[in-house]
Amino acid sequence: MSTVLPTVSDRRLLVTEVFGPTFQGEGPSAGQQAMFVRLSRCNLRCPGCDTPYTWDTRRFDLREHTVTASVNEVAAQVLAAPPALVVITGGEPLLQQANVTALAERLAAAGRRVEIETNGTIVPSPELAALVERFNVSPKLPSFAADGDRPVNGDALAAFVATGRAVFKFVVSGRGDFDVIGDLADRYGLAPVWVMPEGTRSGRFVANLRALAEETLRRGWNLTGRLHVLLWEDARGR
Ligand code: SF4
Repeated sequence: MSTVLPTVSDRRLLVTEVFGPTFQGEGPSAGQQAMFVRLSRCNLRCPGCDTPYTWDTRRFDLREHTVTASVNEVAAQVLAAPPALVVITGGEPLLQQANVTALAERLAAAGRRVEIETNGTIVPSPELAALVERFNVSPKLPSFAADGDRPVNGDALAAFVATGRAVFKFVVSGRGDFDVIGDLADRYGLAPVWVMPEGTRSGRFVANLRALAEETLRRGWNLTGRLHVLLWEDARGR
């Protein structure tokens, strides 16, 4: 009896939403038009998470916030729109790394540039690294992470550094976080470092951004806004 192995097109992803065209709101590509694929599930439980509907079963029925779609279906939806940039985000996309690799392969073959947003706790495969333009790695600091979570995996951070395609973006809750970031950057060779304040409402976000600007400059790091918050506040799917 032979076994029929699934083809790439049979692979299925747990997807929260596909949206765009919109703008990449954060980091080095901020302001560029992009399509977003938001995948479901996360391996961390950050209290300040702005996408809890991807993982928090205490507050959300994930069945109402998840569709199961094939790689081909997701790729077709993304490729029907013109943006050259595709951002695969979550949740934590690398929980579905094999199927994310298949999706990135389809998108790259169609000439799209792929960015992956990740919390940096899962080692990326060489196959995936070869397909992406950039990993936007956002390790969670103790001030942001949930008690009991282990938000830093040194092996994974080292693997992201080794790809030569990673930037490291930290959500900063207060001035005390700067030293923590400096220690992590020194220990694991994280560069370039990007700092981003907390905030999903424009007023508070801009105030936080201004509060962090001078110290970010002094440390020689980069500062990123959240363009989608400035434009659309905390609207989902923008
Ligand atoms: S790692 Fe990101 S998606 Fe996961 S709980 Fe934390 S903020 Fe939310």
